[in-house]
Amino acid sequence: MVVRSAKAGVEATGHAVAVVGAGPAGMFAARALAAAGHEVVIINRDIKPGGLAEYGIYPDKIKMKSGLRKQFWKILEEPRIRYLGGVRVAEGGDMTLKELRGLGFSALVLAVGAQGTKLLGLPGEQAEGVYHAKDLVYWYNRLPPFTDMAVRFGRRVAIVGVGNVMVDIAHWIVLNEPGVEEVVILCRRGPAERKYTPKEISYIAAAFDRERLAAEIERIRPQLEAVGQDPEGLLAELTASCDVPLSGPSAVRVTFEFLTSPVAIEADEAGRVAGVRVERNALVPREGGEPGSRGLGQFEVLPIDTMVYAIGDSVDPALGLPVGRDGFATAQGGDSYQAEEGGAPVDGVFLVGWSRRASDGLVGKARQDAEIGCVEVNAWLAARAPEPAAAGAFDRLMAALAGCGADPMATEAVRRLVEIEDARAEAEGLEEFKFGTDAEMRAAILQI
Ligand SMILES: Cc1cc2nc3c(=O)[nH]c(=O)nc-3n(C[C@H](O)[C@H](O)[C@H](O)COP(=O)(O)OP(=O)(O)OC[C@H]3O[C@@H](n4cnc5c(N)ncnc54)[C@H](O)[C@@H]3O)c2cc1C
Repeated sequence: MVVRSAKAGVEATGHAVAVVGAGPAGMFAARALAAAGHEVVIINRDIKPGGLAEYGIYPDKIKMKSGLRKQFWKILEEPRIRYLGGVRVAEGGDMTLKELRGLGFSALVLAVGAQGTKLLGLPGEQAEGVYHAKDLVYWYNRLPPFTDMAVRFGRRVAIVGVGNVMVDIAHWIVLNEPGVEEVVILCRRGPAERKYTPKEISYIAAAFDRERLAAEIERIRPQLEAVGQDPEGLLAELTASCDVPLSGPSAVRVTFEFLTSPVAIEADEAGRVAGVRVERNALVPREGGEPGSRGLGQFEVLPIDTMVYAIGDSVDPALGLPVGRDGFATAQGGDSYQAEEGGAPVDGVFLVGWSRRASDGLVGKARQDAEIGCVEVNAWLAARAPEPAAAGAFDRLMAALAGCGADPMATEAVRRLVEIEDARAEAEGLEEFKFGTDAEMRAAILQI
């Protein structure tokens, strides 16, 4: 690899590192590695960088998104960092992890996020009308190929989960899906164990059916009181932001089914979701922590026609590493950032961000994880002299990608794409414009 002009004061180490994934974890990892004097190439599945910061965060958080984009572009402009978008490293992808490991890089830092989908494994989950939240957020944030997904919400949508991702999905439906009459939030435990934050829920609290919410608290009053919780206080907390107006008109009602676990999805003759069979729960006190839940053996069917899982994400084993408890397995019982296989650390392979701990926190947490992880990577590299092969690793990568027919989009091409999209947005008077397919993106870049 040709060593290009380094930042003042930082000597080139001769090490070459491939970072896989250009979400927040990959971007901040790349910066930390380049700052230590290593040559870095970022390889990213999506043509554009950003990961969930680009394709997950709710579309109207424009200020947050553009602030992150600016930071990412600053990183991509660093002299020791190169970018290759539109390249998937996985079994069945453009290149396998084993092939990448054979190219001579001094180390690999894997920051591919948590691309697997987590369901509950219930009977009927294959019915039409069952979605995973991540697929939906990719769809409404226009990440190819999810842009083409045939999403059809019915009239009553159940969302399983009580975190901020549930709120994002409900928010989208409330403002953009006029055919939906009701969003039913299914919560295994009670209102005190909700995970969403006050700021996020304030975007949709005006759509709460307050009468129905009060009745629901009444229904579960005995279970709440049995563990010393205050039903009135909880109702007041739940409705605290109901007077914050929605950012657009909506007739959608949002209701909650607390202490309720889905146990099966029922489908109609056409194979579409027709209801969800649920079990009602009681709260079970736990020493020093939040109460758990226990099924009461009382079942009923709620008439819904769409089901969304917002219960977190899992890592995708197609990357080619063993999966541990929270993400891909790492050494020292998960305390290290080095990958682990067969009980031993994998030489030169590290994991950061949601790949290491799936669904763990916000962008700031992913950044922190990457920066702490790279302290370990940098120490590991500092203890080793660069192999002669590191100098040619980038060229071998490009040759291997050409050999398998991949067409990576480098920094300049992606910058042109962003300029074209920005110009389209301005011309069409839109907040933002995004091409819906990789082919359209590539064609737009070529036409310039
Ligand atoms: C719906 C939703 C809303 C959120 N809203 C907010 C919010 O408002 N504010 C906030 O701070 N945080 C928010 N977060 C959390 C935030 O997005 C994450 O903390 C952060 O993006 C995790 O970063 P990451 O780099 O580990 O993974 P990701 O952001 O998922 O990035 C992974 C990257 O790896 C690439 N990749 C995947 N597989 C491969 C492969 N096989 N080969 C090559 N590249 C690959 C992808 O293209 C992607 O660029 C939200 C998350 C979700 C799911």
